[in-house]
Amino acid sequence: MEIAVISGKGGTGKSSISSAFISVAKSAVVVDCDVDASNLYLLFSPLCKEEEVFVSGSHAVVNNDKCTNCNTCIDLCRFDAISKVNGKIRISESACDGCYLCSRVCPVQAIKMIPADKSRMYAGTFRYGDMVYGRLAPGEENSGRW
Ligand code: SF4
Ligand code: SF4
Repeated sequence: MEIAVISGKGGTGKSSISSAFISVAKSAVVVDCDVDASNLYLLFSPLCKEEEVFVSGSHAVVNNDKCTNCNTCIDLCRFDAISKVNGKIRISESACDGCYLCSRVCPVQAIKMIPADKSRMYAGTFRYGDMVYGRLAPGEENSGRW
């Protein structure tokens, strides 16, 4: 038997309902597909057997040696991820949404995009069977900020 518990909104009880079903199963294969906040591993503390890097979007990084301080990127970043500290451009990794805009408008190509690779996917076992789940690193791509 396959059971899917879904909702378009957080906080509606998906994890609670799922954990109730899981706790009466004799042998379950549990896949926590919540892209923003996978929670079932917190409830069941699985023993991790496999770990994989999950690349989720991109982050902007700046080469200040190339930057001419035109401020275009600061003015256009709608996530306020770019600031100037001691005269140098600084891009906040956690605030950057990976939209690519700054890398495209920079007149001297001082900004490049790199893969956001701090999130992880895991597979493990727990008292009711097997579990696949993930952990999204702060600021990495999720179901959308708009
Ligand atoms: S990629 Fe987008 S969100 Fe990230 S710093 Fe550049 S303009 Fe801002
Ligand atoms: S757009 Fe490019 S040159 Fe202008 S401030 Fe940003 S990084 Fe520097």
